[in-house]
Amino acid sequence: MKLTTKVSQLNRVGEVLARRLKHLGIETVEDLLFYYPFRYEDFSQSEQIKKLKEGEQVTVRGKVELIANKRSPRKGKIITEAVVADDADRLRVVWFGQPFIAKTIHVGDTVFLSGKVSRDMFGLVMKSPSYEKEKKLAKQHLEDISSQQKDGDIEQTHTGRLVPIYSLTAGITQKQLRFLISQVISLSSTLEEWLPVEILEGADLIPIQDAVKAIHFPEDRTDLQQAKKRLKFDELFILQLRAEMIRQSIKREEAPKLVFQETLIKEFVQRLPFTLTNAQKIATWEILQDIQKSEPMNRLLEGDVGSGKTVVAAMCLYNAVLNGYQGVLMAPTEILAKQHFESIVSLLGEACAVALLTGSETGNCQPKADPPRAEKLEIGEKTKKGKRAELLKFVKNGTANIIVGTHALLVDEVKFKQLGLVIVDEQHRFGVEQRKTIREKSGVGGMTPHFLSMTATPIPRSFALTLYGDLDLSIINQMPANRKPIQTRLVDPHQREKAYGFIRSQVKEGRQVFVICPLISKEQGTRNKEQDVEPSRLLSLQDERKTVMEEYEKLKNHVFPDLRVGYLHGKMKSAEKDVMMKQFAAGEIDILVSTSVVEVGVNIPNASVMMIEGAERFGLAQLHQFRGRVGRSEYQSYCFLFTESQSDSSRGRLEFFEKTLDGFKLAEYDLNTRGPGEVYGTSQSGLMNFRLASMKDTAIIKLARDTARGIDFEKYPLLKEKVKEWEGRVHLE
Ligand code: ADP
Ligand code: MG
Repeated sequence: MKLTTKVSQLNRVGEVLARRLKHLGIETVEDLLFYYPFRYEDFSQSEQIKKLKEGEQVTVRGKVELIANKRSPRKGKIITEAVVADDADRLRVVWFGQPFIAKTIHVGDTVFLSGKVSRDMFGLVMKSPSYEKEKKLAKQHLEDISSQQKDGDIEQTHTGRLVPIYSLTAGITQKQLRFLISQVISLSSTLEEWLPVEILEGADLIPIQDAVKAIHFPEDRTDLQQAKKRLKFDELFILQLRAEMIRQSIKREEAPKLVFQETLIKEFVQRLPFTLTNAQKIATWEILQDIQKSEPMNRLLEGDVGSGKTVVAAMCLYNAVLNGYQGVLMAPTEILAKQHFESIVSLLGEACAVALLTGSETGNCQPKADPPRAEKLEIGEKTKKGKRAELLKFVKNGTANIIVGTHALLVDEVKFKQLGLVIVDEQHRFGVEQRKTIREKSGVGGMTPHFLSMTATPIPRSFALTLYGDLDLSIINQMPANRKPIQTRLVDPHQREKAYGFIRSQVKEGRQVFVICPLISKEQGTRNKEQDVEPSRLLSLQDERKTVMEEYEKLKNHVFPDLRVGYLHGKMKSAEKDVMMKQFAAGEIDILVSTSVVEVGVNIPNASVMMIEGAERFGLAQLHQFRGRVGRSEYQSYCFLFTESQSDSSRGRLEFFEKTLDGFKLAEYDLNTRGPGEVYGTSQSGLMNFRLASMKDTAIIKLARDTARGIDFEKYPLLKEKVKEWEGRVHLE
């Protein structure tokens, strides 16, 4: 038997079982070894029966005094009842619909039972616990061993009573799987170590052979801990190695040194209508330090919604321009690109020529020395050919200093004179390839521009380091001081009228209101109702339109006939959306009904109420983005959540949201309850398909990152090979 041996050739594996194993992704002996348990029953630490308390999850060890099947009077199902005793007390045990148990366990057997203690009218009882016969446990293991390993390794492997529990598919039992694995476990010693000994020692890791053996049959807690550490490290280290390879290859490229223009930047800061927060200053300083080097910067700037990333971006772009280079600011949508264009013009329009270039629109702002005011050209609804050509010329000959745009900047016809800095807002919507394209458009022969991504999605540090390990990280973890905390309420259905009344009063005071629609259309609603899925992807634009229009009609005709209601959805043309946004921004609309189009970045300072329907269908990070659309000025702002969900987990999440304003805490909550795939849409990419590791393993994440940093790939060709092999297996981005 070898690692590559098919499981179908194993003892007691017939055609049917082989097929079922295949469902679990197990085809070879090696697959079997790498099919890790997801938890363990701890039979080593049993509790005394007389100390049991209701609600506890425990293991007890006792002798079976009584065991019998009977038929339940009501449903006719078989119930197995038993009484188990230890030295001091007795415990009742019941199983439902598993009559065979009465044939496996007999009076007089000593058993371990693991389960939850509950109480019924007769007192404490353990319902449907998992069970192991003490004798069998030992004997079974002895059999396994003697058939595999005749070298007297017996006690060591199987005196421990941490019993592995595997996740299963229909038709395979724990015992079957455990038996199969115990048949092949000795082959773990033939696994090849892929980590160099320096790394094993440096990171204090046990060899792969020991780790795989111990993950299935740990001797004790310590043994298990070490196995887990090693195997989690492997998973995280591969990601970090890959990131490090990318990082090193970027660092080998050459970037323009953008010297910190201290005097002019300080003057700029002085002219701002507000004082920068400390966090903004630190982030700016980190970036400005980084771009002075001849190695390209590759950095992620994280800052919660409204933390003021735009002004940080503006300062860095300005610094590039002062060095004689061009800067690019790229956004994922046209609405955002235009908003950035306007922000940059208002911040830097007197000093820099700013151009806007999106798929359908262009804009241009040339600074004039006298009078020193920015002149803004009209933004056409459809780009006039001539204007676009002119703008492209400006970009190419360097007349345009700062170019703001969307993906449209990536097309071939856009050429730069000399690009020094590229900033991308919400970079997780840009793939690696696109990042590369923009990097390669620099214009200066052989030079790579510095690169900064910005995101308002609060990604916990450990996660960011894992997912974006190739990036350096700056975090703005502080809000401008003038903000009033947004009041958030989960509204009971019978309070709806009251909420509408409140909205009306806000509008009467001159404020404006967002209404975010339930994302799921009626037909789809039932299917996804209680699932915490990212629903936006399930919704076609057609459904989106329908949902928005229904809500719009309802509010306009029945709830607020006296107010001005507008709508926004993904089916609208860009120009139509723009007209609507402009009207809303100008205060000509009181209530805007919308889908997640408004999710990122849209800035309407006069809006004070964000009302979200079907709130349970959004991730917390996304809800937080919505909430960030209000509270952008001195007005007290409010966020109302409506939900029809009765499920405890949904309500629990929303209640947590209600009392938590910190985007990082929300993201962490989401990560812990839903997993990174759901939260950041990485499940498709396979990037985060860990078997053991999770974002909670912050210490190991750091260890893996530190170990990978600066590693010499020439010295360890095997590591490079492993990364390539892994990339081949995983479909990336
Ligand atoms: P985000 O980080 O979400 O992109 P913005 O850059 O859009 O945030 O900033 C939100 C608002 O806060 C803008 O109107 C901006 O002018 C303002 N702002 C930025 N920094 C400060 C500050 N230090 N003090 C007060 N207001 C600020
Ligand atoms: Mg922003």
